[in-house]
Amino acid sequence: MGKITSPFEIYKVLPQTNCRECALPNCLAFSAAVIKGHKQLSDCPYIKAADNENLASRIGIRQDFNRARGEDLDILKKKVGTIDFSSKADQLGAELVSGKLVIKSLGKDFFVDSKGNVTSECHTHVWMTVPLLSYIIHSSGGTTSGRWVPFRELKDGSPMNPLFVQRGEKPLKKLIDSNSELLEDLLSMFSGARADNNLFSSDIALSLYPLPKVPILICYWNREGDMDSDLNIFFDASAEKHLKVESLFSLGVGLVMMFEKIAQKHR
Ligand code: SF4
Repeated sequence: MGKITSPFEIYKVLPQTNCRECALPNCLAFSAAVIKGHKQLSDCPYIKAADNENLASRIGIRQDFNRARGEDLDILKKKVGTIDFSSKADQLGAELVSGKLVIKSLGKDFFVDSKGNVTSECHTHVWMTVPLLSYIIHSSGGTTSGRWVPFRELKDGSPMNPLFVQRGEKPLKKLIDSNSELLEDLLSMFSGARADNNLFSSDIALSLYPLPKVPILICYWNREGDMDSDLNIFFDASAEKHLKVESLFSLGVGLVMMFEKIAQKHR
């Protein structure tokens, strides 16, 4: 089923009583706020659990990216143009080749020129381009801490965490629930590594490097008896030294979107 981008698709499942309990003037205003990512479906106390379950993961996220990343691609490119690559390459864990920064993302080389243009042997997506340029601009270097924290425990992560759960962790959990081999595929496709399962007592733990100094850890717990399966995405505790929380959001959710596309192709 495709993504929902029209408020009317939300409106159809609301009681349409305009009761204002969601603090908006009517149900249509609420529908628009959900599409913009300003409200969650569950903020309407009358939404049926089944409708919430069916629709929440399908709501279009273009707006989230525009809002969450808070940074315009053209502005980022201009800022990158002011950076001395030769003095920053080491700090970023990157190399300088023929005047271009070469930055590894998920095991693949991405080339950034002095105008902020990004090229790669793979397809480049905006979800990757924006965090990559932000990383060049904002990273203050240093090593990773080796301590994993959930998105909500990042310094500025708490307010955006419900959206991160809804757009990142829940869809990835659903994907792995229905395709248990996906994590193995991701491991080989994206130069991932098995992590220590004991860390969070998970059944599967996998680390990936979407940026050289911004690793992520995906932990998945199998369903057990009446307990549903669970999944968390963790960041290194130093992540905000390299990216603003909005870009970390974009990076995590963008990865999940890419995994969804890969899973669709494999079906
Ligand atoms: S709380 Fe629900 S029913 Fe009431 S106005 Fe908001 S969206 Fe409509």
